[in-house]
Amino acid sequence: MKIKSEIEIIQKKHKDSPTLVVVLVGENPASLSYVRGKERACLKAGINCLIYKYDKNVSEKELQKVLQKLNKDSSVNGIIVQLPLPENINEDTIIQSIVPHKDVDGLTTENLGLLAAGTPRFVPATPLGVQKMLSEINFQTDGSNIVIIGRSKLVGTPLALLLSSKSEMGNATVTVCHSRTKELSKYTLQADVIIVATGRPNTLTIDMIANNPIIIDVGVNRVEDESKKNGYRLVGDTDFENIIENVSKITPVPGGVGPMTITMLLQNVLKAYTNSTKIQI
Ligand code: NAP
Repeated sequence: MKIKSEIEIIQKKHKDSPTLVVVLVGENPASLSYVRGKERACLKAGINCLIYKYDKNVSEKELQKVLQKLNKDSSVNGIIVQLPLPENINEDTIIQSIVPHKDVDGLTTENLGLLAAGTPRFVPATPLGVQKMLSEINFQTDGSNIVIIGRSKLVGTPLALLLSSKSEMGNATVTVCHSRTKELSKYTLQADVIIVATGRPNTLTIDMIANNPIIIDVGVNRVEDESKKNGYRLVGDTDFENIIENVSKITPVPGGVGPMTITMLLQNVLKAYTNSTKIQI
């Protein structure tokens, strides 16, 4: 892995390693599992990963204080707050409390604004991972029709900005659909690539696709499954089993976008480190 070898160079030459702090509030089982995944990946790559855990009753003020301290701590290069936060805490207030040059999730207004302006600093990891996947399979985004289902700040909106940007892996004609879109299939039937990020199983079904598109399934949903020890299994947002015959490529859930997202997060942490230390690798 390129990230790991670059960190090895930093460790050898500068006796230092990048540091990421993950702020985790409450006991949401999916969040706990995502944070464990991020921690494992960091350790493997040589990034220090510190988990700051808080009870679900922590106040917004207390969290802001923690973030202010982390913002000032020069030993911390990247900060992420695991979402969702409990309902009593305003997510946007907390995200905007992270200083933009440590916001490796790319969710502060400044970082989203820089992306919209075509001069990105940190791009959210999932959209970056989706773009990377398309580039790895040598898909020419230039002039292609890409439909994104979902317009969240975390996935759909930054992804639309990336893929429609005037850049090498951009220049696509992007249509963003959402829960108010009438006749979703009118758009998906014309698409070369469909990216689904709704958090709803079976959002994309076989009647909604034509001409063997590429499907990228971002969704992660827990559905009950008594045959499993933990009582559930993970599925994406597409009717995977039925559409697989009519697509040119499709990402599985789990194992598709998820691991790519983590890799892109590590890349952002490394970028935050090199930006702040001015170390050239
Ligand atoms: P979100 O904030 O809930 O946004 C969902 C979007 O989907 C909204 O824009 C919503 O429309 C739209 N939508 C919902 N139902 C729809 C429908 N039936 N038809 C068309 N559009 C519909 O979710 P998110 O944070 O973007 O995450 C989406 C999914 O991706 C979740 O399952 C999440 O767990 C997963 N995810 C995975 C990764 C990964 O690394 N694999 C990373 C991030 C997220 P409105 O705006 O009109 O409400």
